[in-house]
Amino acid sequence: MAKIIDGKAYAEGLRGRMAKTVAGLKSKHGLTPGLAVVLVGEDPASKVYVANKAKQTVEVGMNSWEHKLDAATPEATLLALVEKLNTDPACHGILVQLPLPKHIDSDKVLSAINPDKDVDGFHVVNVGRLSTGQESLVPCTPVGSVMLAKDALGSLAGLEAVVIGRSNIVGKPVAQLLLAENCTVTIAHSKTKDLPAVVRRADLVIAAVGRAEMVKGDWLKPGACVIDVGINRIERDGKGKLVGDCDFASCEKVAGSITPVPGGVGPMTIACLLRNTVRAACAQKGIAIPEL
Ligand code: NAD
Repeated sequence: MAKIIDGKAYAEGLRGRMAKTVAGLKSKHGLTPGLAVVLVGEDPASKVYVANKAKQTVEVGMNSWEHKLDAATPEATLLALVEKLNTDPACHGILVQLPLPKHIDSDKVLSAINPDKDVDGFHVVNVGRLSTGQESLVPCTPVGSVMLAKDALGSLAGLEAVVIGRSNIVGKPVAQLLLAENCTVTIAHSKTKDLPAVVRRADLVIAAVGRAEMVKGDWLKPGACVIDVGINRIERDGKGKLVGDCDFASCEKVAGSITPVPGGVGPMTIACLLRNTVRAACAQKGIAIPEL
């Protein structure tokens, strides 16, 4: 049976290390990293995410600001707020919670964020920096996924990695990070032919598809490491349940290690957002970026 990769415990450890780093930045440099989160509208899931982000930001000793705007807020008002945060020296990270209401152009808003404060790592400048191997702010879920893979496998150099999914938020950046770790990377997607045969080549599988329990145990090379990014809500036995993109019951019999859903990649996302905020604050102040 596969070793279960405990993302919740790993994220807790990361937050603990971060709290110590933040305390050190305050005492040595008088620097308190600060994160501003902007929420437009009343999307219930987004409200929960934003509340969790704020709570964990404060718990590690950083400054947190929540800007809650009405769903009817004009695009120009949101852009003016982003500009204000761009020039606020106490604010080192800016996150505009997606999705935005339909009348607002998300790409325009994300492009307006100062790339050095773009802690989501979605700005095209950061996408370019990542793909050319420069220091950059990297999307949080991909960073968390690769941290868990390295924790399970040690060095990833030379491994065959198959990423399922090619979104800008997960698939593409995770593939770039794996390339930087010297994996041989295949990106599979909805048009890939014979996906099970492609996945069977992999020492490391990263599934970011959004299809409940799609990857089956008999698609895996025995001993493969499986990082399941998917979060899917299904009905089972008359109850709502969260499952990943991998069929956990069959995969854990073949994999060497596997992340559960929930409790795998999910908890890493906010921890990596806080890590990006610390990194952004240090870079803005000319302080060496701490290893975290
Ligand atoms: P997306 O819908 O933007 O992209 C899905 C990708 O899967 C696409 O590139 C598509 O080509 C591919 N795909 C779809 N059907 C396929 C099939 N049958 N075979 C092969 N590939 C197929 O989704 P996303 O934003 O990348 O998110 C993917 C999943 O990860 C979702 O379940 C999402 O909820 C989850 N997610 C989790 C976190 C987290 O914090 N853990 C963060 C972001 C996304």
